[in-house]
Amino acid sequence: MKRIYNFSAGPATLPVEVLAQAATGIQEFQNRGMGVIEMSHRTPEIEGLTSESISLIRTLADIPDDYEILFLQGGASLQFAMVPMNLLQPGEIADYVTTGVWSEKALHEAMLLHPAVREVFSGKDSQFAELPDLEKITTHSGAKYLHITSNNTIYGTQFPDYPKSLPLPIVADMSSDIFCRPLNIHSFQLIYAGAQKNLGPSGLTLVILHKELLRKKRTDLPTMLRYDVHAANQSMYNTPPVFGIFILNLVLKWLQDRGGLQGMELINKEKAKLIYDAIDGSGFYIGHAAKKSRSLMNVTWNLRDKKLEREFLEGAKERDLDGLKGHRLVGGFRASLYNAMPIEGCRELNSYLMDFEKRYG
Ligand SMILES: *Cc1c(COP(=O)(O)O)cnc(C)c1O
Repeated sequence: MKRIYNFSAGPATLPVEVLAQAATGIQEFQNRGMGVIEMSHRTPEIEGLTSESISLIRTLADIPDDYEILFLQGGASLQFAMVPMNLLQPGEIADYVTTGVWSEKALHEAMLLHPAVREVFSGKDSQFAELPDLEKITTHSGAKYLHITSNNTIYGTQFPDYPKSLPLPIVADMSSDIFCRPLNIHSFQLIYAGAQKNLGPSGLTLVILHKELLRKKRTDLPTMLRYDVHAANQSMYNTPPVFGIFILNLVLKWLQDRGGLQGMELINKEKAKLIYDAIDGSGFYIGHAAKKSRSLMNVTWNLRDKKLEREFLEGAKERDLDGLKGHRLVGGFRASLYNAMPIEGCRELNSYLMDFEKRYG
């Protein structure tokens, strides 16, 4: 079997150790004579898998008991709607920070249900290359939360840190940088993430929310869209995404073996530096994101000479570097360096960036 370096933005590379374990578990799980995705979710094995995954998350990310951890479906995109549905009563408002396509979509969904929801920052004029200082944003009195996208997958920007105290509780879409570094959950009221970037396969969405939010339940919502129902049923109101939870469980153990989130932050910084150094050290590549807003997870850049784009991608493929084409909205290139991308892949990309510049620059 040959594996190449897959820099795709999502679904994205997973640890090869996890995939090997998963291949076995799909055929036979815990000596039950059947695979993990063939078993009833009401068996002790699957209930155990789910509760173990929750404890692993609590330990890894330091999530106390006053936060609920849910395994849902529908992707991050369904959370764009579920958040305002569950957190706002009719007529209530929330503030939204727009830092890219995903935050625009989150705002759009919120406005369908609560037209008074407001955009308090838009990065559109800077082509979403720069993130605002959250402490300087003027929020509306009476707003129930401030929605942000922690890492903008398409533009390659990421909030470097979060203010300790803001006038509003933060709700964050962390789909593309969850668990890439330690998380101070107390800065947030709710976070959500589609699994397919940094946690596992698509089909699983992780939601972590303060239990306080569950008390103000909206009984007028469709049952499947209510956080309180999923919480009361330990994410087993209906059949949960067992396959996703299984892979997540293996990824969480893999993270734990590698020094947890502190360990990840160290290696992720080293990985990103390899790519940013190659971009900064040249007049040939142009980084998209403003330096202070650069992401550890998605590095975006362009070639000064756009005519060389095809050569760049073809040459990369020859060196087993795949998935580097940028999103159509930004053009150029994007290297996604999620937790599972080994540092060797970043060294190889660094070397390719320099070789390509030597040859064509
Ligand atoms: C990929 C992505 C999404 C979309 O996730 P789905 O699970 O496909 O709905 C939303 N937000 C961010 C930040 C993303 O990177």
